[in-house]
Formats: sequence, C-alpha cells, structure tokens
Amino acid sequence: MKRYACLLLLAAWSLPAQATEYTLTQGDVITVETTLNDKAPTLHCFGKSWPLKSLGDHRWRGWIGADLKSKPGDYTAQWQHGSKVLASDHLHLNKGEFRISRITVEKKMAEFDAKTIARIQREVKALKATYTETVRANPDIVMHYQPVNGEVSTPFGAQRYVNGEARSPHSGIDIAAPEGSPIRLPLAGSVLMVTDMYLNGKTIVIGHGNGLVSVYSHMHATNVSKGQWIKTGEQIGSVGATGRATGPHLHWGVRFNNARVNPASLLPQNNS
Ligand SMILES: [Zn+2]
Repeated sequence: MKRYACLLLLAAWSLPAQATEYTLTQGDVITVETTLNDKAPTLHCFGKSWPLKSLGDHRWRGWIGADLKSKPGDYTAQWQHGSKVLASDHLHLNKGEFRISRITVEKKMAEFDAKTIARIQREVKALKATYTETVRANPDIVMHYQPVNGEVSTPFGAQRYVNGEARSPHSGIDIAAPEGSPIRLPLAGSVLMVTDMYLNGKTIVIGHGNGLVSVYSHMHATNVSKGQWIKTGEQIGSVGATGRATGPHLHWGVRFNNARVNPASLLPQNNS
C-alpha cells in the first residue's frame, strides 16, 4: 500500500519515470534497474556515482553500496544525464544488526609503542590509497564464490573488543580454515598491493574495476605480484594466521566506491 502511494506521487511529479523502492541494510550492495530513453545515463546515490550497464531495450542495471556506517534512513538514487534527473528511486537503509566480537591477544598486538603506531598508521594509509585506484573495468559486479571453503567465524560489521577495548567495527568477514588452505580469487582483477602488515599480516589487495576492491589478510603465503591480472578462480595464496589473529582464517574485505560493504552481499545467492 505504501509503495503504491509512493508510485502515484512520483508519477505526478515526473512522468514517465517510475520509482522503485529498495530496502537495504548497512553494508549491503544492491542491484537497481530502470527503463530510460537515454544512451549514457549516470547513477547517483550517497553523494557518489555508481557503475551501471545497459541490458538492451532501454533497460539499465546499476549497483549501489551502503557503507557499514551510513546513517540509516531514506535516500534517493538518481538516474541522470549530466545534471538532468531522468528517474529517481527510493532506498530505505536499515541499521545492521551487528553482533559483538571479543578477542584476547598478546599484549604486543593490543598496546603499541610509538614506533609500532607509526608503522600501523603508515600501513593503513597505504592500504586506504588502494581503495580509490582506477583499474580497467571488469563487466561483473559480483563475487562468484567465497574465496576459501570454511565457516564464517566473525561476521561483517561485528563490533570488535580487543582485550576489552572497543575497536573499529569489523569491515569484512572472517572465514576459518586450516592453515595452507588455498584462497581462490572470486572475481578477476588486478593486483594492487602485496604486503605484510603488523595487524593484518600478509595481505593482498585486488582491484576489479568499477570501484570494486577486495582485500585478503592474515595469509600464510601470497603467490601473486603487484600489477598482475588474475583470473576468476586462480589461487592467490593460502590461509594463515599472520598479523593479529587468534587462529588461521582469511579476513575478506570489500570496498565498493570506497564504502565498506559486506562481501556476502556480492555472492550470487544474494544477487538475482
Ligand atoms: Zn577480520
């Protein structure tokens, strides 16, 4: 009923654009679609422009990601030509029901001296710089499968407490698996960084184009190098417990247009 009223209201504003209502949770990536008589529209939401592709017959599909900490509430997605709005859709962003995760680690992994703090800050800065690198576009915005077989040990968004102290929310998912388990790339991409970080351990960052970047941390071994193009399904390394880890697991994080998104929301079962 609510949706019906909304459609009528929008129809009165701007014929022939038809608004669709989407509901998503913090950290979700959603697929949006519309019909437009335009050859090169752009898609805008959360103050950013988002990738889209033609499905033929005037149909367009786009992808939008809500950051883990985006403010819950109502947003508008606008399909534009230049600054002209061609169609608008409604997004209702719900607060994520994120659980609490407590870990206990050695003191040197929770309390840092000045030199270690400087190292951590330098490493985080270098990692963040990769999130906005431009990579040749891959036609897909999907992760074809989980990069390693195993159970999710810490879900996305969990509020972290390390030795009792509140830390940043968990910006990826942790998948527990035996040390040495192969990590296979769930979507083709270019290696943006191979590094060994104090907290994240051995880490690989892959750019997939369209603003999609994935991060793999705490690896035992990395077997790709910067600049390489890796195909979907190729092994990039193996599961380990390097950096701050309580046991062997893969930390898998995804940034989409620099928003911290839930990798699980890009898996095929969550995308129609
Ligand atoms: Zn993690």
